[in-house]
Amino acid sequence: MDTPPFSELGLPDTLLAAIETLGYERPSPIQAMSIPPALLGKDLVGLSATGSGKTAAFTLPALAKLDVKQGYPQVLILCPTRELAVQVCEEVHRLGAKMNGLHATPVYGGAPIDRQLRALRSGAQLVVGTPGRLLDHLRRGSFDASRIKMAILDEADRMLDMGFKDEMDELLAALPADRQTLFFSATMNPGVSRLIQKFGNSPEVIQIEQKARTVSTVEQSYFEVRQRSKVEVLSRILDMNPPRLGIIFCNTKRSVDECTEDLVNRGYAADRLHGDITQQMRERVLKRFRDGAVEILVATDVAARGLDIEEIDIVFNYDLPTDPEDYVHRIGRTGRAGRSGRAVSFVYGREIYRLQSIERYTRSVIKRERIPSVEQVEGRRADLIFDDLKERLESGKFDSYQDNIDRLLEQGHTPTDIAGALVTMIREASGREGSAIEEDREPERRERREAPRRDDRPQRDDRPQRDDRPQRDDRGPRHDGPRDIIPQESGMTRLFLSLGKTHGVMAKEIVGMLYREAGLPDGCLGRITLFPKHSLVDVPEQFVGQVIDRTRNARLRGRPFRMDVDRGPA
Ligand code: AMP
Repeated sequence: MDTPPFSELGLPDTLLAAIETLGYERPSPIQAMSIPPALLGKDLVGLSATGSGKTAAFTLPALAKLDVKQGYPQVLILCPTRELAVQVCEEVHRLGAKMNGLHATPVYGGAPIDRQLRALRSGAQLVVGTPGRLLDHLRRGSFDASRIKMAILDEADRMLDMGFKDEMDELLAALPADRQTLFFSATMNPGVSRLIQKFGNSPEVIQIEQKARTVSTVEQSYFEVRQRSKVEVLSRILDMNPPRLGIIFCNTKRSVDECTEDLVNRGYAADRLHGDITQQMRERVLKRFRDGAVEILVATDVAARGLDIEEIDIVFNYDLPTDPEDYVHRIGRTGRAGRSGRAVSFVYGREIYRLQSIERYTRSVIKRERIPSVEQVEGRRADLIFDDLKERLESGKFDSYQDNIDRLLEQGHTPTDIAGALVTMIREASGREGSAIEEDREPERRERREAPRRDDRPQRDDRPQRDDRPQRDDRGPRHDGPRDIIPQESGMTRLFLSLGKTHGVMAKEIVGMLYREAGLPDGCLGRITLFPKHSLVDVPEQFVGQVIDRTRNARLRGRPFRMDVDRGPA
């Protein structure tokens, strides 16, 4: 669905600036339809599912109405669970990042009440909470509901299903009668209707028209991938089946920038398109993509609009779209003109629900695939080199190098060794060595439909910021690797290890050695990258000393090694 830009919705500049920083390029349909009437003070009923961008749809007008100079509760957001309350409060902080003096707090059951009391007393203006605990605060007098201007019910149907009817009734009845109320619900049922009738004031009903669409020839699948492993998994998929042309769709400009940078650092011919790219640059990128000089285009939905290229054989949903219609548009870029096409989506945690609604919308089954292992990728890469080699031999298009080869044969090297060494060199020269991901270390998978835990939520905002990188230690070693530009997670320090692929070392051996020798807690290691002559290992800052000390006399593949804080390329 085409939506107008955020700047046309009537939002104040402070919020537009925060949206720009987050890299949201345009409103999702529920945002475009809810924000203008909500800003006009109307009551709303928004029928929309998780993943549609509904949180920003109600948070933005709520923040626009809030007076940061007043230190009392003005906006109340009711959520069914503690997880959702925390998540919504995080979005409030992200979208309100440019509002000086904003004070928002989550309030939920199962947590000590003291801290919540302090937060409420110290001037919270926006309160996000679960009905039971909020009612508790209302009764104790610690939550002042008398000046609430706007009440929002997030996932109203779920709150009723969870048996919060009485609490919601009591809370809503305690609010000023002239307040504005926004009801958000995935479904409409008699319970939700009753709530709306009792507590709404002729609300406008907003429902996103979703005509089911079928997507025919495209083979659709998904991989369960954590945010931090997305680039590694993407590289593995690309290496298993190198596409002629592929498009990677991201939801934000920031995500496009980061993904492109990571791919270029890994040696792929990738370039990007998003709303901040000038028209002149856009044309240049598209020409290079059409010509095949750029094999992988990373883009937002808006930037890819109107793109009509037939030879695209794979489309990635690096971020799952908020609008199922965008999914259909995205994957429609492949499988054109009778060609076969493939659409791959990356999904994690709660996003599985969004995938299910896409399946319903497209009336198609999106099958789960397993992430290829480093070994499978290595094997496949060798196969591809041998395929090329065979083609060369058959076409006769190669130089003979007779003298050099004869010399090696005279020195006693067999033809098999010479060929093997050459293929190894070609493989290494591609500079695309895989790094470990958590999925490699924990092969056992969760069931697809299992309800995700809070820790499993995609960590969209945990992306490492370049400026947050730990200071490098000047005493550490320097190396010849091209890839320490790989972003480092905050809280992690990158260590240099003086052994690499040519020493036959594998990522899982480094992991084993570190847990064994340094006694690290399970699952704490970050990214491991193998280079021909060295490796880089991301270790939580607090364990750096422990790792360096305890591995001093350790061996890997029978060899002693040096381990120190990495200083980057010489
Ligand atoms: P929600 O439906 O509110 O759970 O949002 C789903 C995801 O979409 C969240 O990760 C949001 O940060 C993200 N999101 C919300 N609005 C936009 C937008 N206009 N553009 C890109 N991402 C968005």
